[in-house]
Parts: sequence; C-alpha cells; structure tokens
Amino acid sequence: MALKPRVTFVLGTRPEVIKLAVVIMRFKESQDIETRVVLSGQHRDMANQVMNLFEIKENRNIDLMSHGQNLSHITSSVLNGLKIEFKEFPPKLVFVQGDTATAFSASLAAFYEQIPVAHVEAGLRTNNWLEPFPEEMYRRLISQIAHLHFAPTYCSALNLNSAGVLGNILVTGNTVIDAIDYISSKLPRLALKGIDWTVQKVILITVHRRENRGERLGQIASGIRKILESNNDVVLLFPLHPDPELGKRIRKLLGNHSRIIFTEPLEYNFFLAAIRDCSLILTDSGSIQEEACAFAKPVLVLRETTERNEAVKIGIATLVGTNPVTICSETTRVLKDLECFNTKVKRIPNPFGDGKSSKRIFNASRTFLEL
Ligand code: UDP
Repeated sequence: MALKPRVTFVLGTRPEVIKLAVVIMRFKESQDIETRVVLSGQHRDMANQVMNLFEIKENRNIDLMSHGQNLSHITSSVLNGLKIEFKEFPPKLVFVQGDTATAFSASLAAFYEQIPVAHVEAGLRTNNWLEPFPEEMYRRLISQIAHLHFAPTYCSALNLNSAGVLGNILVTGNTVIDAIDYISSKLPRLALKGIDWTVQKVILITVHRRENRGERLGQIASGIRKILESNNDVVLLFPLHPDPELGKRIRKLLGNHSRIIFTEPLEYNFFLAAIRDCSLILTDSGSIQEEACAFAKPVLVLRETTERNEAVKIGIATLVGTNPVTICSETTRVLKDLECFNTKVKRIPNPFGDGKSSKRIFNASRTFLEL
C-alpha cells in the first residue's frame, strides 16, 4: 500500500494558530494525507489558549520560549528543532502562515531540506523595510522560498506578481474569516467590572508592535488621555500583550483611571465578543484590521503604514499614526458619526473573504500533492 503524503504545519504565535486552525481541521479530516502539527513555542500561553479553543493538539513542541527571547534565539531554535522533526517525519509539504519569526525560520528549515513550502496569507506588503519590523522582511523572504502562495486578496496576489516569485499564486481569501465563522456560534458576553456595555461607548485598544514600544508609546498614551478628557461617555478596554515589560510601561504611562480597564490577553472568543460589542477599535495589530471588517467596526490604526489597504479603501480602517492630537480628533469624529458609519459600511462585502479560504487552500494543496 502506498504511503500517505505527510503535510506538516509549523506555527508559534496566537495569530498563526487562529489563521491555520480551520485549515488544519480540513487536513485532519482527510483520509489520504498524514497531518502533523509542530508548535515552535514562540508564544506559549497565548498559542495554547487558541489550540484548546479549536481543539487542535500538536505532535511536537520545540518549546523555544525563554525569558527575554530575541529574534536570533527564535530563528536558531526553530531551525534546529525542525532539522530533527523533518529527519524523523519527512513531509511532502510544509505550511507556514503570515510573517512571524517562526514562519520565516520554518520556511528556511524546509528550504534547507528541499521541502516545498505553502505560504498562507502571502503577498502582504507595506513596502517599508522597517514597518512593521521584522514582519515586512520576513514575508518578503518567505515569498522567495515558497512553492504555493495563498494570497488573501487580489491586491496581495499583485504584490507577489510584481515581486516575480516562483511557484503558484492563488487568491483564497483570508483564513481568519473561516476562524471567525467557526467560532461565531460560541461568542460569549464579556462581563467586566467597570464596563456597562448598554450605556457606555467602549473603545477596544491593543498595542504591541516593536516600532510602537519606544517614544511612540508615550504619544499613544497621551492620545488616550486626551480621548478620556474630551469624551465622558467613553470607557477603554485595554487587553495587554503578555510581554511584561510592555505591560509595565503602558500601565505606568496611563496610571490608574476609572475608565481604563486593563486585562490579561483575552481568550479569542472573548476578544471577538469585545470587537462585536465595542463602538470603536484602536490598534496597531494586523489581524484585528481584518476582524474589524468582519464585524463592520471602525478601526483607527496606530501606525504610519498598513498592509491591509483593503480595509482603508472601504472606509472601515483609518491610518492615524501616533500623533496624540490626531488620535483624539479622529476618535471623536468617528464616535460622533457612528450611525452614519453603520449604515454606510454594513452593505459593503468583506474584502478579506467569504469563509471558504481553507477549502480553497486544501483543494489546491491536494492538486499539488497529486491526490
Ligand atoms: N487577540 C486575542 N486576544 C487579545 C488580543 C488579540 O485573541 O487579547 C487576537 C486578535 O483577535 C487577532 C490576533 O490576536 O486575531 C492578533 O494578534 P496580534 O495583534 O498579536 O498579531 P498581528 O495580527 O498584528 O500579527
């Protein structure tokens, strides 16, 4: 009897797990493919939370997380860990997602063994080397290595075409929409002391990008204080990234304020519930711009550039950067105009997909594997 082709998924951070979960489920259902899941350990607790939610179990954990980990440590640990994994369980195809240190290092490890790579969420670009850092360079380098490029939108496919990448490009939509569809029947109510969702306007805020950790963090904090001064009916929900240094700085900059509610990272279903129920999102995250589109929520992007221009084009996202005055004036403008925003955007189809991305990725991979 012929051996089943083996497909290995390598993932390490919360967004990678979220965006590969439904793809992995599809592969696991298939009788004629052996599916392996390898966790790098780049985010330990946050990745585990999402693995549990989607009921996915890893076959191997490289468990690289260490105190004060840096990019060199992540890269070398993933390379060394995967050398062993690929020797013991050689795959016919390796899946990576997005633009993390794990995704880049896994593609390089596969390339060293001449194993083809499938890249999910391929082709996103800001065209700025250092923003976001190191993600823009990681996704460019993965595009040079991959055989299968699963682009979420036509715009990302065009970016890949202009980069002259080798291999096949397929527009699939973004798998985050598949994840939201899967989880949407399990969205809870988020009850938090200090927030009355029925009368207060809740602003959901996240900050974690490396380029926003220096001087710009102080500017963002100043913008937040201005928002609270000029909008009495607003409360801020601020789930902190687990990096303890970052959390400490944010708390120090913002101090104690009765209308700022800090939390630990929220579990994904609770975080989606917060997106659904809030009035506005302030973030420097990439994926949250896509999720805002799925829930038709306005999002102010605390960055100078975005690789999700589709969200800007349909009027859901606005690039505001980190100038405190702009952050406050744009927030006030959007909050005043919420009704108008809702009637305008509710009719626009989501540019990031229809929830069938995983199926397209699965079918194209089967063709590649000659099944
Ligand atoms: N997220 C979450 N809980 C939180 C904050 C974020 O589950 O407390 C999810 C969010 O819905 C999104 C992902 O984590 O899917 C975003 O992760 P992050 O901003 O770290 O990464 P990026 O998308 O910018 O790479």
